[in-house]
Amino acid sequence: MDRDTWNPTTGCNKVSAGCKYCYAEVMTKRLHAMGIEKYKDGFKVRVHEDALDVPYSWKSSKVVFVNSMSDLFLPEVPLEFIQKVFELMNNTPQHTYQVLTKRAERLFELHDKLNWTSNIWMGVSVENEKVKSRIDYLRATNAKTKFLSCEPLIGPLSNMDLTNINWVIVGGESGRKSRSMEELWVWILKINAENRKLHSSLNNGVV
Ligand code: SF4
Repeated sequence: MDRDTWNPTTGCNKVSAGCKYCYAEVMTKRLHAMGIEKYKDGFKVRVHEDALDVPYSWKSSKVVFVNSMSDLFLPEVPLEFIQKVFELMNNTPQHTYQVLTKRAERLFELHDKLNWTSNIWMGVSVENEKVKSRIDYLRATNAKTKFLSCEPLIGPLSNMDLTNINWVIVGGESGRKSRSMEELWVWILKINAENRKLHSSLNNGVV
């Protein structure tokens, strides 16, 4: 299936250590410098009503990363707008949407006001021990498929409760100033996931 990104919101704020070398911030600076209208306000949080219909125009089924340039559950994004994004996803079951957030608490606050059709996969970023509580918020939601993005993995994650989690993605940081990822941290995660017969995948390497 084709892969694509869809950005009904742009801009963000850094919230935890995983944000340090944020790819979206770097890309936004470039797009802003190129004069792209959607990025005229730089990395300030903006919602884009005109982007809401974009998936209707796709001819073939896609796997879609929602908000590669932002975070749908930022406090600045009104619930009504998030509901519109969900309505679009509900109305296009031919596409699979992967929504990833670091605002797990707000995700939990709003989850029962959203319609979780099975084509919406919900994930949280877990880059180190400090933010493990995001998993509990995700687990408590009505999302049908739940995943973790442990990328960039910048610290060990031991004793992670993976109950009701369907997929774990692991990856290191890239770029000139990247923080290193230890092989042992990856093995700990992989063994934990395999013990629970989960899907796991490693970006930027092979295990
Ligand atoms: S939450 Fe994601 S998009 Fe927002 S600053 Fe952090 S890494 Fe960047």
